[in-house]
Amino acid sequence: MKCYMERRILLIACSLVLGLPIQAQGLKKNNLKQPPPVAVDAARLDRYASELMANYVKPIKVTGELAISKFDYLNVHVATENLMFPADELYESSWDTVNINPFKNVNITFPDTYPINCQSFSLPIDNEVKITSKYGYRRRSMHSGTDLKVKVGDTIRAAFDGKVRIKSFIRRGYGYHLVLRHPNGLETVYGHLSKFLVTENQIVRSGEPIALGGNTGRSTGSHLHFETRFLGKTINPEEIFDFANGVPHKDEYVFHNVKVNGKKTNIYSTSADALAVHRVKKGETLGLIARMYGTSVDELCKLNGITKTSTLSIGQPIQLRTNKTATETPSAAVKQTTPDPQPAIVSQTEKTSGEPVYHSIQAGESLYTVAKKYGTTVEKLCELNDIKENIIIKIGQKIRCS
Ligand SMILES: [Zn+2]
Repeated sequence: MKCYMERRILLIACSLVLGLPIQAQGLKKNNLKQPPPVAVDAARLDRYASELMANYVKPIKVTGELAISKFDYLNVHVATENLMFPADELYESSWDTVNINPFKNVNITFPDTYPINCQSFSLPIDNEVKITSKYGYRRRSMHSGTDLKVKVGDTIRAAFDGKVRIKSFIRRGYGYHLVLRHPNGLETVYGHLSKFLVTENQIVRSGEPIALGGNTGRSTGSHLHFETRFLGKTINPEEIFDFANGVPHKDEYVFHNVKVNGKKTNIYSTSADALAVHRVKKGETLGLIARMYGTSVDELCKLNGITKTSTLSIGQPIQLRTNKTATETPSAAVKQTTPDPQPAIVSQTEKTSGEPVYHSIQAGESLYTVAKKYGTTVEKLCELNDIKENIIIKIGQKIRCS
């Protein structure tokens, strides 16, 4: 694969130097299991590659033999390559121009960890951010993105550099929508659009206008339905981006494949030692959930402070025991068995100051894990915060712990 990539970089480099048109998808085709359903505009790719080159290399006169160092060319062409075949090492030859999640019914191997560089993020909208619907369960269905208020005709921008994978229409869903794949490994989805400003397979830059906002598909009131996906799986965009400030929470967002009883769950968490959470779906029982994750009903009851006969509600988070990820050092794994020092520190503060202690909810946390962390019980937290045991807690939500 590495050799193949290098050969491809060299081929592109040579074709650019010699001014030959690049048959990008043609090169790629040798490696495709299925040919792409839509022909690629090679001339357009070539133009973009040239523009990119202009962006990366100061004009240098080429006299006789090649006057530019091989190093310059390789840098340029690695950048170009990354846009032509975004996150190729992750998605390999998959370039599906129809299905938003092409891996829905496919068994794929998710990496143990994957760092995503978010530095070049651009807010997809220009107006002041108003989130009209958050990611997560609402009523009985899953909302797989973040809804941002826009007016019909407002400019929608690419969140990162990338390439347009899907430009399509779903009447009973996304309406007119775009899917972009980015070199950092993420894919972003833009739904309910009124007009496209890009075409399929087009390379776009971060912040470039790609469409106009609208109200098409299953939508009441104009808005942008914005999704972030990783190998087809949706991720709460608010975990990655601070929309109000138009910046990513962190320059690099690292996903860890959570392990339960030593097995990869393909559940991604931003924290290596976060506990995995399963959201109860219609018809599921504790027995079924236990079997799904290779654990026992007793274990689940213990972890969640529930009994075997507890009634599960749809969307209810069920905490699962996890092992440390493979990237953790053995000493860290050993440390896990010793009691967490944090509760002791907290209780000391409690005793000396008597002030209430608040906790801001992090991704993957539940009332149970918060209670454990602060050496208290779920019942006590519910009492202190006047909430019910089975409420869905949100990231960033402040919980009084003492
Ligand atoms: Zn939405």
